[in-house]
Amino acid sequence: MYQKMSLRQEYSLVYGKDLFRKEMSQVWLEHVRKMAGYLEAKRVSECGARSLWWACDGEESFGAWKRMLCRSRWCPVCSGAETKHLWNYLRYRMREVTAAMHTGIRFWRWETTLPYEFRELVTMMDGIDRFTAMSVDWFESYLRRRLKITDSVKLLTMVVPQWWGSKEPYGNGKFDPKHVHCHGVTLCFGWEPEVVSDGSVVRPARVVHFSRRYLEDSGIDVKGFPSRFVEARSSWRRVLESEYGEMQAEDVDVKIRYEEGWDQWNHRSAYMLRSPVKDFSEWADANGEKAVDLEWAREAMSARAGKQRVRYYGALSPKSQSPDSPLMKFIGLRLSNRKQYNREQKRVFCPNGHEMHVVYSVPPDLTVKLIAENEPFIVLLPPWIRVRDSGG
Ligand SMILES: [Zn+2]
Ligand SMILES: [Zn+2]
Repeated sequence: MYQKMSLRQEYSLVYGKDLFRKEMSQVWLEHVRKMAGYLEAKRVSECGARSLWWACDGEESFGAWKRMLCRSRWCPVCSGAETKHLWNYLRYRMREVTAAMHTGIRFWRWETTLPYEFRELVTMMDGIDRFTAMSVDWFESYLRRRLKITDSVKLLTMVVPQWWGSKEPYGNGKFDPKHVHCHGVTLCFGWEPEVVSDGSVVRPARVVHFSRRYLEDSGIDVKGFPSRFVEARSSWRRVLESEYGEMQAEDVDVKIRYEEGWDQWNHRSAYMLRSPVKDFSEWADANGEKAVDLEWAREAMSARAGKQRVRYYGALSPKSQSPDSPLMKFIGLRLSNRKQYNREQKRVFCPNGHEMHVVYSVPPDLTVKLIAENEPFIVLLPPWIRVRDSGG
């Protein structure tokens, strides 16, 4: 029997003078004001300004302050926290599943793109779901062909569809900003359910580890040169053309790469899960007062807000990951669902192990005073509040 990992977050205690808070960009706040209104911009500008007094249940009544976040979806700080949360939850699931399957984390990361000429056919509200499903089918079929994996083996795939380029969310002058693509990850092992015939088990369920890592095919590309992933690209082209019609573009772009280890996983999943507001606000921070198409930004971010950011397929689907699924029974794992997980994550404990609760809140001016007076703060170590370097 293997040890379940703890779901609790690690909180630390930091003194006022060591608290660091990134300044909210005035340019971004101005964008928020134009897109979502004055009140929303005000809410975002006051993120972390107020604080709450927390105290423990124990005899010693241990207490500390904790900053209050705005939880606006226009807030780069709060969306960063939300991304971190999602990232943690995914990592929790992946660690549990791989441990129960007695394997490390090994995966292919892949990317599909949509040629520019078809961009109007896929919107975040509509065509993106179809595009995502096509992308998953394409990669999984390619993988099965390359490694001769039968249909009886369920793969584990997750994918994040995106509608704009992260580095250039407003386009680059030459191209308009719509850049439809999917980031996918498929694990380097699969699961084959048991085969039953005439009431008896013919073959027991098993985890199938794929021994080959590198998938690339080689051939002659459309320009007549020897190239890698020729079949991968031409098969993606066939998928696109059967859906959207004949293509003028000479070639299509796909990426496939093998990676392994938790460092790679952490890096990859953080990149996939980053929030839309991060792309747009970082661009605003870097480009200052430059004029932008805020209609597009609002459309891109609003459409996304109602959508599930990550989608899971095959043995990673919610059904396969539920406690009573054949897979979970087979590997002897009971994963916490998102609700149970969130509940655990929100619990804060004092250094003596007593649970802490909110007692009252204080306004921004008093929070500033508390920081100046070097009062203790509870910090989740989210990305935006960090302990100052001792030298600084
Ligand atoms: Zn205590
Ligand atoms: Zn916030």
